[in-house]
Amino acid sequence: MIGATGRLATMTTIAFCGLGQMGAPMARRLLEAGHDLVVWNRSEERTRALVEAGAEAVRTPAEAAAGAEAAITMLADPGAVREVVLGDQGLAKGLRDGAALIEMSTIGPDAVWEIGEGLPDGVGMLDAPVLGTVPHAEEGTLQLFVGGHAALVERWAPVLAAMGTPRHLGDLGAGAAMKLVVNSTLGALMTALGEALALADALGVDEDQALDVLEGSAIGVTTRSKRERIASGRYPPNFRLALAAKDLELVRDAAARAGVDLPLAEAALGRIGAARDAGLGDLDYSAVIPHIRGRPATG
Ligand code: NAP
Repeated sequence: MIGATGRLATMTTIAFCGLGQMGAPMARRLLEAGHDLVVWNRSEERTRALVEAGAEAVRTPAEAAAGAEAAITMLADPGAVREVVLGDQGLAKGLRDGAALIEMSTIGPDAVWEIGEGLPDGVGMLDAPVLGTVPHAEEGTLQLFVGGHAALVERWAPVLAAMGTPRHLGDLGAGAAMKLVVNSTLGALMTALGEALALADALGVDEDQALDVLEGSAIGVTTRSKRERIASGRYPPNFRLALAAKDLELVRDAAARAGVDLPLAEAALGRIGAARDAGLGDLDYSAVIPHIRGRPATG
């Protein structure tokens, strides 16, 4: 199937389930790369733009899987992936022998293994969660952390490459594990920035001056990427705060099962969980900053 150039000799029929902020641009990249795309989303209206661009929309994940060589899931959390893959009308009901499930959401290795065990014999699986956010999904510059058999990774690498740069890390679940490792730092960094600005407020340090200095410090990347939101008080989501809280819960649970103590990640979950409980879950996760500072935040 893979030609001398390393690209698929023929284009592939792909089922794509989950057209949220990340899924929609990732699916569009596949369409633009020339693949046949069948899409399903829980809220049907999110399929419209892709249908206009040439995808086919169907009513159930099982229907999406029926003619597909691979099915991709990009969904909110483990419960959503479980339902969409293993539910009554799930992908597992439609995927045929030799097809593959490529799971790209952030759900942690335990859920990946559980879902893999629920697939029919003859259906392969890769986990390929992503690092990067909406602009990277639009540009196809995500980093993809891939777990699974080498032959399956080789088979699907050209499709993954339409969305970003795949990095094969080991057996099934290895990508999901790496994603928890990297996201354990995101929560700590964003809450550290919130606390630094709360300290600046308390010490009478000018916000602009503080942000200039923080931009040139070890937390510079985080500060730069969120400065516009901090300055405006408007936090439209690239990465919803509710999803960041979910990720930190996955980190907490995986660490507990592995017997490792992570008090910093635990503290970040405390901060981000409190912001979610205060109603900020649909804003960008950087809305934890005004929450820590006791300031308002809007979308
Ligand atoms: P999102 O915009 O919130 O979209 C979530 C998707 O999951 C939507 O398609 C939603 O359907 C669907 N969904 C939620 N619950 C469901 C259920 N019970 N059954 C069926 N479908 C369900 O999320 P996103 O930002 O695209 O993120 C998707 C995944 O990628 C998450 O695991 C997230 O942690 C991860 N991720 C996100 C980013 C980022 O920057 N946003 C970056 C890296 C990784 P509806 O449209 O019907 O609500």
